[in-house]
Amino acid sequence: MFSLADRSVIVTGGTKGIGRGIAGVFARAGADVAIAARSAAEMDSAMAELDTLGDGKIIGVLTDVSDQASCNEMARTVQETFGSIDVVCANAGIFPEASLATMTDGQLSKVLDVNVKGTVFTVQACLPALAESGSGRVIITSSITGPITGFPNWSHYGASKAAQLGFMRTAAIELAGQGITVNAIMPGNVLTEGLVEMGEDYIAGMTRAIPMKALGTPEDIGHLAAFLATREAGYITGQAIAVDGGQVLPESPDAIPA
Ligand code: NAP
Repeated sequence: MFSLADRSVIVTGGTKGIGRGIAGVFARAGADVAIAARSAAEMDSAMAELDTLGDGKIIGVLTDVSDQASCNEMARTVQETFGSIDVVCANAGIFPEASLATMTDGQLSKVLDVNVKGTVFTVQACLPALAESGSGRVIITSSITGPITGFPNWSHYGASKAAQLGFMRTAAIELAGQGITVNAIMPGNVLTEGLVEMGEDYIAGMTRAIPMKALGTPEDIGHLAAFLATREAGYITGQAIAVDGGQVLPESPDAIPA
């Protein structure tokens, strides 16, 4: 049960943070793993680390998910190298801050281009291969921010993460007949390179708001992605699951025991 050893997987944003955690879990489970991102230097160091984890093949594909042609090229390269694409983790995303009062058209477009269009382009590019797989899996990294919660300066980001869930539900219906499932993970606050840039005060405040009193790890997200990728998870589709240490549960900070 639950073998991923014969699965081939793409993880966008797999060079850092949550994506690297997801890629690491799949690599340890023996899957062939392709990571996709823009920076060549980060790609090399991530591939070197992933190569030490399992018996599957590891490749890196320089990709900008906001560019449809680049996503098509990514899918073509992975299909050619591995001979199949069974699992697509549409994880690449950005979370720059902008207040609603001053947000520019450019700031809004950038977040929507990477987080929303990037998700759609990634999935579209892999559709023929996922259909061929017979048990294709799409796993989208959304967030609690947007679908469940809000946070100042992230209205555009929250909108993009909620939009991913709207996409997921219809995609799940359209693809069900081909044995492809489409699900989303909603991470809470996960200690990644991107989150560290938010500063110590942000991280300390978030830690206090989490009943489990710790930020998540990239592997926490990877473990759910790995389960959703199994053949055994084939009857689960169109679902969004929070992995957040209980962060969305308290009605007020007083609900969390000291
Ligand atoms: P991160 O540490 O900043 O890593 C982001 C990854 O995405 C990098 O590999 C980056 O590589 C890649 N990326 C960014 N723009 C890209 C583009 N246009 N094309 C291809 N790859 C691109 O971020 P993270 O914290 O791991 O977040 C990953 C995902 O989790 C995002 O979707 C985010 O919304 C979601 N999330 C994160 C948290 C959290 O607490 N960290 C919570 C909820 C949801 P390059 O820059 O080299 O392209």
